[in-house]
Amino acid sequence: MEPGNRELEITQYYDTPLLMDELEAGEAAIELETMEAPQVLEWAIDRFGRSLAICSSFQAEGCVLIDMAARIDPSVRVFTIDTGRQPQETYEVIDRIRERYGIAVEVFAPDHRLVERMAARHGVNLFYRDVNLRLLCCQVRKVMPLRRALMGCGAWVTGLRRDQWATRSNIRKLEIDHDHGGIVKLSPLADWQDDEVWDYIRRNGVPYNRLYDRGYRTIGCAPCTRAVRPGDDPRSGRWWWETGAPKECGMHCAIETGGFEHELASLLGGRDVGSDGLPTTRQPLHRETFAADRVSSAQDGEAVGVAAGGR
Ligand code: SF4
Repeated sequence: MEPGNRELEITQYYDTPLLMDELEAGEAAIELETMEAPQVLEWAIDRFGRSLAICSSFQAEGCVLIDMAARIDPSVRVFTIDTGRQPQETYEVIDRIRERYGIAVEVFAPDHRLVERMAARHGVNLFYRDVNLRLLCCQVRKVMPLRRALMGCGAWVTGLRRDQWATRSNIRKLEIDHDHGGIVKLSPLADWQDDEVWDYIRRNGVPYNRLYDRGYRTIGCAPCTRAVRPGDDPRSGRWWWETGAPKECGMHCAIETGGFEHELASLLGGRDVGSDGLPTTRQPLHRETFAADRVSSAQDGEAVGVAAGGR
């Protein structure tokens, strides 16, 4: 296919007319607030169809959402960001979910060139040395692949809950996601508590990450997550060596420190980047930017994997 045709095809594919404006989103958020999580998912699947995707790191909440969504639409899209540093137990639960629900989990990996440059400059365990280096690693391994994963999505579903951390206390079940080009972000479990998640898992036999049986309360990358003592804040097991830094990676809220952004720009070849992790010359974010990135990535042979499995 000629490059021009390819770009046209991809641009058309990602040009969804289903986006909401702020007024519609506000009204929908009020409507969804009173709905149970399965109803929210049913509404979203009906409203957004194939432009809806569940983003899961295969923590307990993500597994609950997949179980609920698969009952409504067994072909629902599910994707994950494989940072390359996750514990083996996470890969095992991905396999169990795939087998249980027959879902083809789409796997998005970081740009290997950026990972290689980052490791050469700062070492493979850079995150322990400095908050900005930790955020740099999260940008390269999580935030940037997420942006690729969301290309073409009109809406994405997350397992965020309001009681997880201060930065999440005000999330709505439906929001306009300005960090990702104005698409819709849904959090059907926003008003759930931890015990409701586990009650659902037990009642429905939902596969879950075995690390929860070993004292983990939240699970991210292996070197940055550890078990916590009973009664401790669950997110204290994330980046436990840091003090005063947000227990966030940047996937769900833009983080600006003035520090890691310069280093990221250096990895990208000297271009400045904004808080969205993209070169500032390409801002503001919009769907054509996503499409252009996708074409560029595909032409460069950037790793984008789709795990095999029935859908
Ligand atoms: S959680 Fe740790 S290993 Fe994973 S992307 Fe962030 S800094 Fe890197």
